Amino acid sequence: MIRRKIIAANWKMNEDYDQGIKLFSTVINLMDDEITGDQQVIVCPPFIHLHSLAELSKNHLQISIGAQNAHQAESGAYTGEISARMIRSTGAEYVILGHSERRLYFNETNELIAKKIDTALLNTLNIICCVGESKKEREAGQQFEVLKKQLTEGLFHLDEMQFAHLTIAYEPIWAIGTGVTATAAQAQEIHQFIRQQINTRYNEQIADNIILLYGGSCNPKNAVELFYQKDIDGGLIGGASLKARDFVDIIKVCN
Ligand code: PEP
Repeated sequence: MIRRKIIAANWKMNEDYDQGIKLFSTVINLMDDEITGDQQVIVCPPFIHLHSLAELSKNHLQISIGAQNAHQAESGAYTGEISARMIRSTGAEYVILGHSERRLYFNETNELIAKKIDTALLNTLNIICCVGESKKEREAGQQFEVLKKQLTEGLFHLDEMQFAHLTIAYEPIWAIGTGVTATAAQAQEIHQFIRQQINTRYNEQIADNIILLYGGSCNPKNAVELFYQKDIDGGLIGGASLKARDFVDIIKVCN
């Protein structure tokens, strides 16, 4: 099974309006000059950039735009929140849900993430859903248990058709923004486990088709070994996606 590689950028709460346009334009220009493969690139900026970036990427079919969060309700009195429909109306096609920073700082549970996924799907967004264990959980050898619970409670209520709109990013919390990356062997072991769980819940074809990304201190150097593991189909890139040169070098790994 040959799966298309995906490199996604999570800008987090960085880049004001002008900075965002400049960064994205530089990425597009470098990609035009240097990218020869058919890898897909998904850039997930703060909400304020979604529409401009979707417009700028209109003629670049390899690039899609995504949000970093969406509310679980369709609409209503939720001051300060953004709905899936609003995101879709900007031209964005993806949304990251279940990022560990949202689980940690905004108390997002597997149950809430499941609701957010349902609403995002109803509004025709594709989802990058993040899962991953903490340092304490890994040290206690609980990573498989934690992942199984996140998958079962957050994602496995979906039917086969809905599940096809999902990309899963394995992001060990101890590797996010820390400069410590999972070894290629550690990441491959977890990706294989996730694929097995999907096979058990759905079937072999769905497990073979789903795109599984690795995230956590990826850079142009460590991406090479990580992205060539059998079950790793690309990466979700935080810090390094804020430097156009590094981000495009990571994309280039999949040329
Ligand atoms: C992330 O937060 O999704 C991420 C992968 O961050 P970083 O690359 O900075 O570790």
